[in-house]
Amino acid sequence: MPASAPSEGAADRVIWDRAETLPRDQLEALQLRHLRSTLARVLRGQPFGAERLAAAGITAGGDIGSLADLSRIPFTGKADLHANYPFGLLAVEREQLVRVQASSGTHGKPTVVGYTRGDLETWTELMARCMTMAGVRPGMLIHNANGYGLFTGGLGFHEGGERIGATVVPVSGGFTARQAMLLRDLGAHVLVSTPSYALAVAQALAESGGDVASLPLRLGLFGGEPWTEAMRGQIERALSLRAVSFYGLSEMCGPGVAAECPARTGLHVQEDHFAVEVIDPDSTHRVPPGTTGELVFTTLTKEALPLLRYRTGDIGCLADAPCPCGRTTVRLTGLRGRTDDMLIVRGVSVHPSTVEHALLGAGGVAPHYRLIVERPGPLDELTLECEPDGTGEGPEALRVRLEHLLREHTGLRINVSVAEPGTIPRSEGKAVRVLDRRAGA
Ligand SMILES: [Zn+2]
Repeated sequence: MPASAPSEGAADRVIWDRAETLPRDQLEALQLRHLRSTLARVLRGQPFGAERLAAAGITAGGDIGSLADLSRIPFTGKADLHANYPFGLLAVEREQLVRVQASSGTHGKPTVVGYTRGDLETWTELMARCMTMAGVRPGMLIHNANGYGLFTGGLGFHEGGERIGATVVPVSGGFTARQAMLLRDLGAHVLVSTPSYALAVAQALAESGGDVASLPLRLGLFGGEPWTEAMRGQIERALSLRAVSFYGLSEMCGPGVAAECPARTGLHVQEDHFAVEVIDPDSTHRVPPGTTGELVFTTLTKEALPLLRYRTGDIGCLADAPCPCGRTTVRLTGLRGRTDDMLIVRGVSVHPSTVEHALLGAGGVAPHYRLIVERPGPLDELTLECEPDGTGEGPEALRVRLEHLLREHTGLRINVSVAEPGTIPRSEGKAVRVLDRRAGA
């Protein structure tokens, strides 16, 4: 039998690094110092960035007098990484990289990122920090179902867990029935995966028999794709655990950029390593805390691949009120996935998360769904494919109810197609929720 988990008595108060609780004035002084040395590194070692800085009148780190001067620095974006694929934005010699990872990119090429030994050390510390904040403790058994490979979710959580002194099982993604068997047999306390894959694992656990609530599993660390509070509720009920949200992107380091503390007031940004801004994506002007916009990050300590004011395309907002956990860093709230995930159907914009929220709040449906956009005639047609969960009405009555509900929530007519249970493809990593079959899409 698996041993019981280490005690979580005063678990909520454990803080990995004192940088997390620095008074704001000290934190901001540290950020400014790091920003200046990052600028110096870019000017010295990254010709692309140096040219842009020079054009903006910045030729030395000292040209930036305060954090407010961040707005003088030009933005970078995914297109810049693509144009400099694969190694054109390195600020060090390629030989100084000890690891390369990648994420899905644009134009059919991945977004390739590199790490020096120092970068890997920083990333490992950031992961240990965030996982401690989430509730991971030495001795806990972590079942890591994130893909091991170019995706940063696998190795990132792996090294963070080892640094804490937890026991990490590098299961990687796929073979869902085997995931369920290992979770049960090894007695995992912590599951790491994407939110959508957690639901597939939950289903496999339920099908393999026995009471999920009696397992030692009590914590889930989820990231890699946007998810709603409704989805969090589904996962917590299905797996009988506390689900914690992680945010990151490979361009910054991978996961470890921000994560939730037990107070659930948003995801604390690791601000001593990343400066965060929220901008209006159209005007590109900075917006104040509490206003939703596009997240922009500047790396403050990255050696291999410093990125200045990187436009993530992710939508969210900042909360800067004091957090009961004692950490002084700002939090990300209202994360809604990417600006370019927004669907424009018959001239009306709708975000998939709005549909997910309405669907999962409706009752009677399983948390597996797809949105399909087509243009069979002159007009777009949006269809939601979903499955009944067996607790509600028949398929036809469910279809009618959902169509009415979705129209109320989105202002759009959305066709609902109720599929046989188990027929919508399950994700083994990042879920594909939207199929755009319009010509040219
Ligand atoms: Zn907190």
